[in-house]
Amino acid sequence: MPELRYNILNDIWVIISKERAKRPHDYPLNWEDKKKTGKENCPFEPGKEYLTPQEVFAIRDPDTKPDEPGWRVRIIPNKFPALKPEEQFFRTSEAIHDKMGGYGFHEVIIDTPDHERHINNFSIDELVLMFTAYRERMKQLYEEKNIYYVQIFKNHGKEAGKSLYHSHSQLIALPRIPKRIGTQIKQCRSYHMEKERCLLCDEINFELREGIRVVHDNDHFIVYSPFASAFPFELRVVPKEHLDDFTMVTDNMIYYLSKAVQIAVKKLDKLLKNPPFNMMLHTSPPRRNLPYDPNYFYEIDKLFHWYIEIFPRMAIHAGFELGTEFFINPTPPEEAAKYLREIKINTE
Ligand SMILES: [Zn+2]
Ligand SMILES: [Zn+2]
Repeated sequence: MPELRYNILNDIWVIISKERAKRPHDYPLNWEDKKKTGKENCPFEPGKEYLTPQEVFAIRDPDTKPDEPGWRVRIIPNKFPALKPEEQFFRTSEAIHDKMGGYGFHEVIIDTPDHERHINNFSIDELVLMFTAYRERMKQLYEEKNIYYVQIFKNHGKEAGKSLYHSHSQLIALPRIPKRIGTQIKQCRSYHMEKERCLLCDEINFELREGIRVVHDNDHFIVYSPFASAFPFELRVVPKEHLDDFTMVTDNMIYYLSKAVQIAVKKLDKLLKNPPFNMMLHTSPPRRNLPYDPNYFYEIDKLFHWYIEIFPRMAIHAGFELGTEFFINPTPPEEAAKYLREIKINTE
């Protein structure tokens, strides 16, 4: 069974996943074989629902039944989950080391029934359905008692960790708030305490005035290269209206989000020739009083601001980055934004 272990020196939790057990000869993943997986052998095809665990959520055509064709987006438990809902939620120790049961959810979001469609050529309708499924499933998981965060992410391309050809996203619902989100909440809180304003609201207003790092903006979203981008051509997609919680976005906002993401991804695709990238959604954690800090969520709706980040994997982070958490980015964000602004793309 999976287990969470606390890395005391670095203050992070690590999922030790025995289910996914890999022996030395299982590495590296044999991508070339998987890439060749045609429709015939693909478990995500309509009509092959029996090959996957039973769906937990789907957007379907009227009068179609669960685990049958007729779905537009289908969410299923991961066959090799890193965390499982039937595991215990508890914290114990082995001498100086703390650990927890591997409780959580690990699910696959099959973005589209079409084997050959990928996010770099998704239509607005496909993106709208994908983001709507993200929102609806996240809403359900935020009702679970011991879930403290839901990380939704998409790996595009083998170098970004994609292991099955058919387009899909993943979500992992965690029994802890991840350190990175915890740090962001802390930063947003201290900024808000000092200035009585939201950090990301201030940042996007500044970027819109400056203009040099902005790639695109529409009525409701801005796409820009962050001032201290760790990755070349890193992008943030941020709503202009302040809102901390992605589960509360309206359908109208999802439409404008889809337009912004479509443009961001198509521009990356054209400029960098279909680069591998990771896309991550960040939102405020489900509200509850954490035993270790009853004020954790105080005014979080005012100080946190949901957003999406896209990390093209143009550079491989290696010894220096792993050793120090310092990043070397060879493309200044101002130049990245200029290239991306200037590249012309077709949208429908
Ligand atoms: Zn397929
Ligand atoms: Zn804000």
